[in-house]
Amino acid sequence: MANKPGLLMVLSGPSGSGKGTIVKELLSRYEDMRVSVSMTTRQPRPGEIDGVHYYFVTREQFEQTIAEDGLLEYAEYNGNYYGTPIAPVQKMLEEGKNVILEIEVQGAEKVMAKRPDLVSIFIGIPSMEELERRLRGRGTETEEVVLKRLEAAHYELSRAHLYRYLVLNDEVEAACDRIKTIIDAEKLRMIRANHTTLEVNGYVGT
Ligand code: 5GP
Repeated sequence: MANKPGLLMVLSGPSGSGKGTIVKELLSRYEDMRVSVSMTTRQPRPGEIDGVHYYFVTREQFEQTIAEDGLLEYAEYNGNYYGTPIAPVQKMLEEGKNVILEIEVQGAEKVMAKRPDLVSIFIGIPSMEELERRLRGRGTETEEVVLKRLEAAHYELSRAHLYRYLVLNDEVEAACDRIKTIIDAEKLRMIRANHTTLEVNGYVGT
């Protein structure tokens, strides 16, 4: 028998909100969790591996994939393209896996419009001061990039109300527990039911 399709989830939040750490923790906790590997035109950071953290491509390759309709969504962020290859996401969902898209808000809004069943989660931050501290603490970005990311954070926070859930990342373990609660509740939503029980009991008309 075919698996029930998994949940399509989106996790957004300002750069520095700790989305990446949350995703890692969710992947290690739950066997049926997967993350979509995005395609980007930005340069790899030290330690980032092609095909694991991102597919690092040229602008020409990215635009070719857009032309071939190979992306579920894409956006430009800080002068670079970022996008979600559609085929692997579709395959993982069909296999019954819960798939996380860790993407910024413009892309998330495109997926919300296409997929009403999307489980959209915004990762909140304790304060702007804390966000700035985390961004500078990374030590991998230039001052210019840090300032751009802070500016982007203001925009992203202004779009947070569009998401179905808000999860504060005050502590990673607690944030992951909250996300697990969301997943459990989402699986019980009527739109995901197969209606067998209701049919057996005669509550579903023909
Ligand atoms: P970073 O350069 O820090 O890895 O990512 C910058 C932003 O792009 C983050 O907010 C990240 O979530 C977002 N991002 C990563 N992959 C994608 C994608 O496939 N599509 C969109 N729209 N945003 C993405």
